[in-house]
Amino acid sequence: MTLYPLFADLRDRTVLVVGGGEVAARKVAALLRAGARARVGATSFIPQLRELRAAHAIECLDGEYRSDWLDDCWLVIAATDDHELNRRVANDAAERRMFCNVVDDAQQSSFQVPAVVDRAPLIVAISSGGAAPMLARWVRERLEILLDHSIGAMASLLERQRPAIRARHGDVGARRRFYERLLASRVWQWLRADNTAGAQREIESLLQTTDEPRGSVALVGAGPGDPGLLTLRGLRALNEADVILHDRLVGAAVLELARRDALRIEVGKEAGVHHATQEQIHALMLEHARAGRRIVRLKGGDPFVFGRGGEELEFLRAHDIAYEVVPGITAALACAAYAGVPLTHRDHAQSVRFVTAHCKQSLDTLDWRALAAERQTLAIYMGVAQLGTLQARLITHGRDAQTPFALIENGSTAQQRVITGSLAALEALAREHDVRAPALLIVGEVASLATTLAWFGSAPLGAGALARAA
Ligand code: SAH
Repeated sequence: MTLYPLFADLRDRTVLVVGGGEVAARKVAALLRAGARARVGATSFIPQLRELRAAHAIECLDGEYRSDWLDDCWLVIAATDDHELNRRVANDAAERRMFCNVVDDAQQSSFQVPAVVDRAPLIVAISSGGAAPMLARWVRERLEILLDHSIGAMASLLERQRPAIRARHGDVGARRRFYERLLASRVWQWLRADNTAGAQREIESLLQTTDEPRGSVALVGAGPGDPGLLTLRGLRALNEADVILHDRLVGAAVLELARRDALRIEVGKEAGVHHATQEQIHALMLEHARAGRRIVRLKGGDPFVFGRGGEELEFLRAHDIAYEVVPGITAALACAAYAGVPLTHRDHAQSVRFVTAHCKQSLDTLDWRALAAERQTLAIYMGVAQLGTLQARLITHGRDAQTPFALIENGSTAQQRVITGSLAALEALAREHDVRAPALLIVGEVASLATTLAWFGSAPLGAGALARAA
């Protein structure tokens, strides 16, 4: 069945809802949002409807259904659980040439209520013509994720700006190009910050210039690997990107979610293996931004945690390129969560430190005495090559050799492995299990909880096995 889609203006028009239960109440709420006058007829009403009646927000008709309830109505919704009654309502409506929806009964209905994504005044309605309501709902959920909530504010803003835009760009083609420029501009950022005045000023300045679209960069944290840990904002940025400059650490599963026709460039770095220098990455961002493209600079975890995000922003700022930052779930948070290790714990750790153990020099600059202090958790990034040094220095500076650790390799992915033990055995256990980057090391009492709280992937390896053997 192919339906003709239409959006009805129901302001101050009476719509009859037959039924006084939950379903009827849901329909009534939607009708009231659209400004309709709701007339609700039933033998009994749930409290929610009784309250609306008491507040004079709806008209209630008590008792058995009668066809004169339809008098003066524009639409009818039959929302009772009595099939026969619903059918009678539908027949009466048809006789009067009125459209009637029977809830959950496409056969009896002469109009259907679509699944909607509400970004009022912008509304997306989805219908499968009764063929597959579940599929329509599934599409709705997808769109709900994709469509930012600021779209509603954008629609209202454009409504107000329309006369000015028309006056400035009389020609349809010019107007369309202007809208494209506007929809690729920073206006969104202002709207997301709920700053309508800022958005307005941005539009005014766009109206005064005739520039080509200005490029921009979104510095996006891709999370640790599991695509489910990407943020909604990150996903939306990926869907809008013309160019994606991504690190190696960003998994294929995350990149899968990006716009199909975006240009993808791998610029990643692995410890020791440099695919592109930081200068080359800067140059690429500049080149594409100057060509007016929207760039996503996609980094593993969070861009501001050992991700050189700060340097990239300084560069963009210096070259007057617009940017925004979308945080990501950093490896320490993800690995801890997926290994069942709470980073803080009332009984064991009141603080947590994020530390990088990138190379010998970076180890020399660390304050080891502070790192070796009790009652804190260390989350150590990029430490795989330095485990022996880490172990020795922490113990030399006073951390108990029996302090538990959890070493998480490929955290949050299907390849995740967790090795646990005590600090004194760290290097030996890592070697025994051939741990490779990327891996995150957690040191502190909380690490021992991995053995009891683990929930993801296979059980922790290491000291547990050795102890059982002993
Ligand atoms: N910006 C990133 C960190 C980049 S440094 C973030 O916020 O997570 C790279 C280091 O992060 C790796 O050497 C490793 O220590 C850690 N790391 C990143 N992803 C990881 C993962 N899935 N599992 C374990 N460690 C990870």
